[in-house]
Amino acid sequence: MNERILISGASLAGLTLASWLARYGFRPTVVERAPALRAWGNGVDVRDQAVTVAERMGIMDDIRAAAADVRGMKFVDADDRAVARVPIGEPGAVEIMRGDLVALLRGTADVEYVFGDSVRSLDQDDDGVTVTFENAPDRRFDLVVGADGMHSTVRRLAFGPEERFVRFRGHYFAFADADASLGEDRCVTMYNRPGRMAGIYRSGNHPQAKGYFIFRSGRLAYDHRDVAQHRRLVREAFAGDTSWHTKELLAAALADPDFYFDALGQVRMDSWSKGRVVLTGDAAWCASPASGAGAELALVGAYRLAGELAAAGGDHRAAFPRYEASHRALVDKKHQIGANVRMMVPRTTAGRRLRNAVARSPLPRVMGALERRLQAGPRPLPEYAPAR
Ligand SMILES: Cc1cc2nc3c(=O)[nH]c(=O)nc-3n(C[C@H](O)[C@H](O)[C@H](O)COP(=O)(O)OP(=O)(O)OC[C@H]3O[C@@H](n4cnc5c(N)ncnc54)[C@H](O)[C@@H]3O)c2cc1C
Repeated sequence: MNERILISGASLAGLTLASWLARYGFRPTVVERAPALRAWGNGVDVRDQAVTVAERMGIMDDIRAAAADVRGMKFVDADDRAVARVPIGEPGAVEIMRGDLVALLRGTADVEYVFGDSVRSLDQDDDGVTVTFENAPDRRFDLVVGADGMHSTVRRLAFGPEERFVRFRGHYFAFADADASLGEDRCVTMYNRPGRMAGIYRSGNHPQAKGYFIFRSGRLAYDHRDVAQHRRLVREAFAGDTSWHTKELLAAALADPDFYFDALGQVRMDSWSKGRVVLTGDAAWCASPASGAGAELALVGAYRLAGELAAAGGDHRAAFPRYEASHRALVDKKHQIGANVRMMVPRTTAGRRLRNAVARSPLPRVMGALERRLQAGPRPLPEYAPAR
């Protein structure tokens, strides 16, 4: 059996995978580039099959207890008057701050962690994979999993350069801390200028608010790990915006050490595995924050990968294709983000008026109810058992 499994990335996908692999008797090691868990970020949704995964991990009650409890979204004008409101929340689903979810997942996984390091090279043969690290000595593993996000190092080493797999969707986004008094309790407030959005997210259960920014743009040249460059790009994109609270939000965001910036990109791959190396989470299929499904896909995908490995007695040749076959349909569905982007960041003033009119109409509620009806509850998720 392939027992020793290296997981690159200690976030939603990597932590979920490590937890299930350990339960099934594998020996996972998690390597994370950051010096500690990166436990921050905005609200993420645990819904549908991800609720089942969290229940089976024994953390769903804690997730409910820590819920962000955001009840609605409002679009405002320059004078901070609501021009349209949309209730949010799906029956059974829970929105939780990403950092809280990361901490809860970590609590379920008693495994080996290596922080402050990264895989540098992978060399696979018939019996395993020799891994060199930036800092730690070389090691042998039976399998290697890339759960290291949209800019995955494992994907680059095993499958090829990022440009082949990451599709740019015409926007950039940033999240950071914000002054809570600028937003409304339990509400996501959004202010638009053509092709730009500045917003504030206020959870009901956290004193700290999150500011966020999205802007439409052609491709920009920058280093995805150079935070000083990210700050400059966002500052430049919103430099002329002095209306609403944009200036104050921007000043607070740029001062936040945990400022988070990325391209609105999507990862599209024909296959998620190559020999003894496999990808999960954003590294394999990032649908982008505009999908609202990053956490759901990460939890369900990692659960399925661990389960298929267990059911196949660790035989990756049997498990990897089954993992992929079982999870692709959900990923493909969540890649459809066009309507969400148009809703959050209308391109023109006319587009913004239309969005506001639609948001004020009963249409979003009717469509939401219809979708819930058609889905008729969470689809069943297999319970995997280790092969004897
Ligand atoms: C700090 C942070 C804040 C985020 N905030 C939000 C948010 O507010 N809203 C939202 O919708 N999504 C957010 N995301 C993205 C969201 O977590 C993912 O879209 C989704 O949940 C899938 O998770 P993932 O585990 O696949 O990838 P990610 O969450 O992107 O995690 C990848 C992990 O791999 C680590 N890593 C990267 N490269 C290496 C390497 N070479 N070696 C070892 N480790 C590596 C990263 O540090 C990170 O911990 C955030 C991600 C991060 C890392």
